[in-house]
Parts: sequence; C-alpha cells; structure tokens
Amino acid sequence: MENNAIRFACNGCGICCKGRLIPLTLNETRQWLQRGHEVVVILEAFDESTWPSEPQQYAHSAQRAVEVTSGDARIRVVAVLAGNALQQCPNLGDDDRCGIYEERPLVCRIYPMEINPFIALRPENKICPPQVWEQGEVLFSDRIVDPVLADQVERSRQADRDDAQAKIVVCEAMGLSVAAWKGNALAVYLPDRTSLLEAIHHYDVGMRTPTSHDWKIRIDDPKLYRQLQAAGVALDDRPHVDYIFHRL
Ligand code: SF4
Ligand code: SF4
Repeated sequence: MENNAIRFACNGCGICCKGRLIPLTLNETRQWLQRGHEVVVILEAFDESTWPSEPQQYAHSAQRAVEVTSGDARIRVVAVLAGNALQQCPNLGDDDRCGIYEERPLVCRIYPMEINPFIALRPENKICPPQVWEQGEVLFSDRIVDPVLADQVERSRQADRDDAQAKIVVCEAMGLSVAAWKGNALAVYLPDRTSLLEAIHHYDVGMRTPTSHDWKIRIDDPKLYRQLQAAGVALDDRPHVDYIFHRL
C-alpha cells in the first residue's frame, strides 16, 4: 500500500478558494444564496449515441442527468449549480481562512479528492503547493484511507444523483433551457440571486408548474451539429443569448 500511497497535509493556503467555481448540492445552493452570494448555473447535454465507448462513465453521467425532450429527440441534461468564486470565494477571510468552516460545502471538505469518480488523484493536477504532498497522513492508496473523507466523497456523489431532477425543474422554471453539448462547451448562466432562490423555494413547497420545455442545444462543432440535427435535436442558433458559451 505504501508504494502507491499519496500523503497530504493541507497548509491552509486558501489557493483552492480562489479563481474557481464551487459545485454545490441543492441544499448548499440555498445556503449560499441566503448568505447573499452568487450562484452560477452550468448546463450540459449528452446522449448515448455520441458518447465515446466508455459505458461506466456514461452510466455515471446518466445518473446525475435528467432525460428531456429536445425537438424530436430525447437527450440527457445535467445542471451544475456552483458558487461564484471566480475572483475569490466570498466566504474567504482576509487571513485566507474559511469564514463558514463548520458549514462549508462538501466539495470543499473533500478537496483534493473529486466528486467525479473517474478523475484520478494526481498531485501534479492539483493547485495545492508541492510541499503539502510530502507530509501528513496517507490520503489515498488504492482507495481513500480516511473513512470520514470516504463518506463525504460518497455523500457528494449521492447528492449529485439525488438533486439531478430538482435542479432541472428549477432551471426550467427560470427559463434556462439551452444547454451546451458535453465535451464541446459549457452553457453558463448567471441568474439573478433572488429569482433563483425563489425558484428553489417554489420547488421546495411543491409549486412545480408542469412545463413542456423543449430543450435546445448550442454547439459550434460542424460535424456534431449535423449529427444532432439529423437526430432531430433542437439547436439554438440565436445571435444573442442569455448565457455564456464557454468552449472547451
Ligand atoms: S466555502 Fe470556505 S473552503 Fe469553500 S471555497 Fe469558500 S472559503 Fe474556501
Ligand atoms: S490549495 Fe490545497 S493546501 Fe491550499 S488550502 Fe486548498 S487544499 Fe489546502
């Protein structure tokens, strides 16, 4: 075990709290918004016909997505709600300490582990300073060593699956129904904080207006565009859009 063991001792530098988005569970999203902070919505779509031959990864993605109608096709859409920490996290203090440490999101608790089980832990891919990998307890060998951390990782993955439907319903209620195609780009929305909180509240109290949303896809890959068009997927060709199209 020790040969492949990865040691880690967080030094509290706060680098991981800056310049990024913080994926949140639905409950964490409520809390984030109630603290007065912004949440970004990222929408990605996919289907089995264009998925590379990785059945396990497809099954994982399908579990955290919802099947929706797009034109004449059925596709899957995943919504990620993420705290806006693109400058730095609004909860980060001047001393680089977390101001909500006891209530911090699961994704902050598990870092440098990932919610996505297909992303292997590689210190060189992490933003932590190099010295933190040379000390401390063994974090990972052939599995996560600390049972508390392993439980938090599993809870974050479970929340991803449990919240999938609710997040899509909330997006539809807000009229956010254009997604980018997984692997090509991300459709990134910056919804009004109060409206998003209200949409989540409506979901919580069961005010779920039945929607007949026809989801649309924005894509800039000509081959994939033709492929999806032939499959009957509704495509978004509007010149002006209410989301940021972030090419990957
Ligand atoms: S919530 Fe706390 S731990 Fe998470 S990014 Fe913000 S400051 Fe860092
Ligand atoms: S970047 Fe790494 S070492 Fe620094 S606070 Fe975040 S987890 Fe800890």
